[in-house]
Amino acid sequence: MENTQLLELANKYGSPLYVYDTDKIASQYNRLTDAFSDVKNLKLNYAVKALSNINILKFFKNLGAGLDTVSHQEVQLGLTTGIDPKKIIFTPNGVSLQEIEEVAKLGVQINIDNLSILEQFGQKYPDIPVCIRINPHIMAGGNSKISVGHIDSKFGISIHQVPHIKRVVENTGMNINGIHMHTGSDILDIDTFLRATEILFDVAKQFDNIDFIDFGSGFKVPYKEGDISTDIEQLGLQLSERFNQFCEEYGKDLTLMFEPGKFLVSEAGVFLAKVNVVKQTTSTVFAHVDSGFNHLVRPMMYNSYHNITNISNPKGRDRYYSVVGYICETDTFGSNRRISEISEEDVLCFHNAGAYCFSMASNYNSRYLPAEVMLVNGQDYLIRKRQTIQDILHNQEEVELPKNLSEEVTV
Ligand SMILES: *Cc1c(COP(=O)(O)O)cnc(C)c1O
Repeated sequence: MENTQLLELANKYGSPLYVYDTDKIASQYNRLTDAFSDVKNLKLNYAVKALSNINILKFFKNLGAGLDTVSHQEVQLGLTTGIDPKKIIFTPNGVSLQEIEEVAKLGVQINIDNLSILEQFGQKYPDIPVCIRINPHIMAGGNSKISVGHIDSKFGISIHQVPHIKRVVENTGMNINGIHMHTGSDILDIDTFLRATEILFDVAKQFDNIDFIDFGSGFKVPYKEGDISTDIEQLGLQLSERFNQFCEEYGKDLTLMFEPGKFLVSEAGVFLAKVNVVKQTTSTVFAHVDSGFNHLVRPMMYNSYHNITNISNPKGRDRYYSVVGYICETDTFGSNRRISEISEEDVLCFHNAGAYCFSMASNYNSRYLPAEVMLVNGQDYLIRKRQTIQDILHNQEEVELPKNLSEEVTV
């Protein structure tokens, strides 16, 4: 996306604004499918929670992707695209049996991540096949950063409880059709990831009717220059070979699944915000933008780094700024950033704003959610209007209160 085009969009739709480039989404999707082209049955389920606008979901449907969902509501959003419910997988954590039943009734593939619900679901619906989420507990070299599903994680059923899963399956007569893991950690060390996959294969072997193995996600993308990212091509080579070999051992062409969010949409999105005030203190120059952690919470919540550029003055002299928001709490997007000289009313561009940015936005300080724009072949489409005061008031019920409260108070 060119600076001049982004500036035009900020003028046309106002700020703050999210912009998503579908060309980038498609190229990431194709990169992943190419990396696993040696696998006969590959299925990529886009993780809806990363960016859940229905037009983005529709774009993924048209690419041929499935959807990975974590709530009944995400399933409902997915179904607005007309996608076959069988192409949606429901991988929640700690939700009620009732919610799982509601989703199962829609024909969506269910994934269960605890023994209690597995047993209850199996007793009631022995004919609905389910996938199980396994926690492989892999810890590489004592480095928690590359640990995979650590021992005290709340996610998945421990591999140590596989005998218990088998007992539930025998007692209920239910059918396990898939094995899943999602470690949540960044896949940088391919060998560590492959060790976790061996554990999944060991589990899969113990069930007779497996159709697919879902390796979750954890693909890392660069947020700044010099960042390392997952070597998808290398992972594709090594895992495809091992997967194909496992299919032979198992005696069936299984489907290999992944469910990436960040990898597919992070770099496709930018967030544009206008500078309200440039404030020079004795030590720091603050650039206050017309946004805050209500719109982009990752820097404050996860300490994530988002590259910030000044698209109104890209060729100016670099100076050091702290870019902050307008929320009445500390909301620093970046400290001591070298950015091309900023004037009031300049538009700043926050990069890697496709994943977990709009989808985590809130109405804190009673501010409106930003508008969203999608670029398709370079053409811009408004895919979410900016909110109005009606949206803030919606669902608030005004009740009758005594006119003069002090009269009602008895001391
Ligand atoms: C969030 C989530 C994903 C996506 O993770 P990314 O890091 O965005 O790729 C995949 N699977 C499950 C079950 C998730 O909860």
